[in-house]
Amino acid sequence: MENLLALTLADDMPEQAEGEGPSFHWRWLGRGVLELTPSGKYTLSLLLSTGIHGNETAPVEIVDLLLRALYRGDITLQCRLLVVLGNPPALAQNKRYLVSDINRMFGGRWSQFPQGDETVRAQWLEKVVATFFATAGPDRWHLDLHTAIRASYHVRFGVLPQRHQPWDETFLSWLGDAGLEALVFHQSPGGTFTHFTCEHFGALACTLELGKALPFGQNDLTRFAPTHLALRALLGGTAPEHAHEPVERYRVVQQITRRSDAFLLHMAAHTLNFTPFRQGVLLAEDGDERYEVQKATEYVLFPNPSVAFGLRAGLMLEKMS
Ligand code: ZN
Repeated sequence: MENLLALTLADDMPEQAEGEGPSFHWRWLGRGVLELTPSGKYTLSLLLSTGIHGNETAPVEIVDLLLRALYRGDITLQCRLLVVLGNPPALAQNKRYLVSDINRMFGGRWSQFPQGDETVRAQWLEKVVATFFATAGPDRWHLDLHTAIRASYHVRFGVLPQRHQPWDETFLSWLGDAGLEALVFHQSPGGTFTHFTCEHFGALACTLELGKALPFGQNDLTRFAPTHLALRALLGGTAPEHAHEPVERYRVVQQITRRSDAFLLHMAAHTLNFTPFRQGVLLAEDGDERYEVQKATEYVLFPNPSVAFGLRAGLMLEKMS
């Protein structure tokens, strides 16, 4: 089962659905989903997901390398682990998604999308993850690995879901050690995978945006080394190399939503993530609705004028002191 990625891309089934690895028992739960339970004691239950967007290949390759290292015995597993390759048909075609974006469907929002393979997948992933966390202790993490579509002032950054309880500083500092230069804190609910696991299972959850990806086999994985090494350490129960760069923190202050054909986003097509805008600047308009910068300075994240109606065309952030 060290070849989860190859099986998933080919839509094949393994010869056996479960078995023993060097330091764990494994169970194949369905296409792209593998659960590993350590032979020894553990406290952490970790959901490690990637490929929710099928063209974001580099972190999928990293997860593949981590699984191979676990099956070779190079890493002794010290946490309970659920590996999820999110959207296998999209991965096989190197497309972000085939019909609709799975990462907008969680928390039951799949019911609002045209029914198809991706809504079925989102619904099934919710069930698989619920079962995984149902038998987990209080120590629960969810790392959802992505790469960004556009260039960014921060090459690697994390986006954290709304959370009513305070964030655990150990978790936040691990994210810095994993190479993230900035953390963005959502202030309202959403349909992402990490929103779902944080809200429903109390997981410390983060969507990691790890720079740009190329098709399978063409990625320079050395560019992802800090994240790869930190994940290796996490699986093996050791502390990662400590990063000395400070991590910038932002909170979301407004969302720009495309509601109609009249929507206009007043930003150049190549606008970088975290580009600053001054108070009063008109960011977007949609008929009578106008989006202006409210705070002294706001920074744009994920600007995209061509999303479906009702979906996010950009987020505006402010720096936290
Ligand atoms: Zn993504």
